[in-house]
Amino acid sequence: MIAVDLIIRRMAHNDPRTLRLILGDQLSAEHSWFREQKTEVTYVMMEIRSETDYVAHHIQKVVGFFAAMRHFAADLKKAGHKVHYLKLDDPENQHSFEDNCRELIASLNIQRFEYQEPDEYRVDQHLKEFTRSLSIPFLMIGSQHFFTDRNELADLFRGKKTYLMESFYRAMRKKHGVLMDGDQPLTGQWNYDHDNRKKLPKGHMVTAPLLFENDVSELADLIQYSGIKTIGRIDPKRFIWPVNREQSLRLLDYFVSECLPLFGTYEDAMTTDSWSIYHSRLSFAMNIKMLSPTEVIAAATRAWEKDLEKISFNQLEGFVRQVLGWREFMRGVYWTHMPEYNQLNFLEHSAALPEWFWTGKTKMNCLKHAIGQSLDHAYAHHIQRLMVTGNFALLAGVNPDELDKWYLGIYIDALDWVEITNTRGMSQFADGGIVGTKPYVSSAAYIDKMSDYCGSCYYKKSEKVGERACPFNSLYWNFYDRHADKLKRNQRIGMMYKVWERMSQQDRTAILEQAEKNLERINEL
Ligand SMILES: Cc1cc2nc3c(=O)[nH]c(=O)nc-3n(C[C@H](O)[C@H](O)[C@H](O)COP(=O)(O)OP(=O)(O)OC[C@H]3O[C@@H](n4cnc5c(N)ncnc54)[C@H](O)[C@@H]3O)c2cc1C
Ligand code: SF4
Repeated sequence: MIAVDLIIRRMAHNDPRTLRLILGDQLSAEHSWFREQKTEVTYVMMEIRSETDYVAHHIQKVVGFFAAMRHFAADLKKAGHKVHYLKLDDPENQHSFEDNCRELIASLNIQRFEYQEPDEYRVDQHLKEFTRSLSIPFLMIGSQHFFTDRNELADLFRGKKTYLMESFYRAMRKKHGVLMDGDQPLTGQWNYDHDNRKKLPKGHMVTAPLLFENDVSELADLIQYSGIKTIGRIDPKRFIWPVNREQSLRLLDYFVSECLPLFGTYEDAMTTDSWSIYHSRLSFAMNIKMLSPTEVIAAATRAWEKDLEKISFNQLEGFVRQVLGWREFMRGVYWTHMPEYNQLNFLEHSAALPEWFWTGKTKMNCLKHAIGQSLDHAYAHHIQRLMVTGNFALLAGVNPDELDKWYLGIYIDALDWVEITNTRGMSQFADGGIVGTKPYVSSAAYIDKMSDYCGSCYYKKSEKVGERACPFNSLYWNFYDRHADKLKRNQRIGMMYKVWERMSQQDRTAILEQAEKNLERINEL
């Protein structure tokens, strides 16, 4: 009897040989998986063509992901975990999650398969299909990264016609006790937007961004000779983005001490003198989970508590709103509306993306800068993405499919869940108002108000008609005119139609003709 008992107990402790898949955007050492080393567990990570080739990515994005994955694998090994890492040029690499995992399950005699919840619908579907085909037990476990789960937004707004980011954000502040005093906002006020979003004063010297100097030459060469199609530029001897946890933490420290004090004030400003102004540039580190949003908010809050004079509350609230509000809100919208979301085209836009989106070679100074720095650094800050490139594409009626490919490829932080909700939703109004209540469009007036771009531009910011008139101006009115049937009833923009209708017939015709000319010669603008 004693002997049988022992055997049963031994069997219970004899955990099955397990394969755990770590995706390239799941580089969180804090995940509960890694709390103990288990000899029966093998972790697998892979550099695969199905991920590099679904769109033409910026070279810095491919390098950034693979460099960070390699560091993460090395750290796991150092901590005593068993890791099977498939490099891009490993002969056994079959370049698909499913095929590589199937091969390992057979060769390592694996008895159980586990993976973390993917952030992207595409990968989620692949892995669901794969696990359905397995004859061994499997488990999907949470990624333990976000404040919210996939269905939280849908649950919160159940029965409501629209989602309001502000209501979602306040609910999250309450639920997670962020910047709260009991059930009231700390300081008594939820929203500090009116204190933020100023233009940079003339002569203001922006603090330089913290740039790393990682030598990634070997990886950049490998990507090139593997024939992967990439866009953009790189200095492989001095790769500027964080590639491991230690660098990510340094970037976070730098942000809270050097940039947070002016983050909110200038979060909507644009200038030719700085490509990141006081933005954190933490999206890449956060999206691949080298940093968690909880620790990012905690670090910002600690910095504020330590020096209330240096960091006013509006800077901190402005930042928390982006991370706890917008970031989680977009994730919720994504999981509520996929897979339909990436097909939406409310305004039925079908124009091609102007060729200069790929080169930055345009006479429009704002676009030249926003696109040029995107090609140089795989980064543009929010207002450049929304009110320069996104604004122009919306006014020009670009097909959201083409635009999604561009945004998904060019930015180092671009992952489907946060890219399409921002591009199709917030920027292109292709979702008809799920993310935003009105389209974000502007003439030159807004760009001039928030930047120093217009002063040195080939085009004249105040003119609507003529060879040198700023193209944004005529395209702006053309946009409202051609979408009157869909937009005129929107209470938030009805006013614009009154202004348009008050213009003389002659002026309106001239503006619409100018817009047509601009659309016809769009690649020469
Ligand atoms: C057309 C368009 C496309 C975009 N594509 C992406 C994308 O592919 N990946 C991505 O991470 N963000 C995207 N954004 C949102 C935002 O522009 C970036 O998160 C931000 O510019 C990243 O730079 P940062 O880290 O310096 O941000 P900061 O300005 O310092 O903001 C702090 C953090 O808040 C979060 N955040 C701020 N705004 C948003 C937002 N609208 N949605 C989600 N999170 C937000 C980010 O995690 C960011 O790191 C897009 C915005 C637009 C308008
Ligand atoms: S004038 Fe027009 S095109 Fe030139 S920078 Fe200003 S908004 Fe851009």
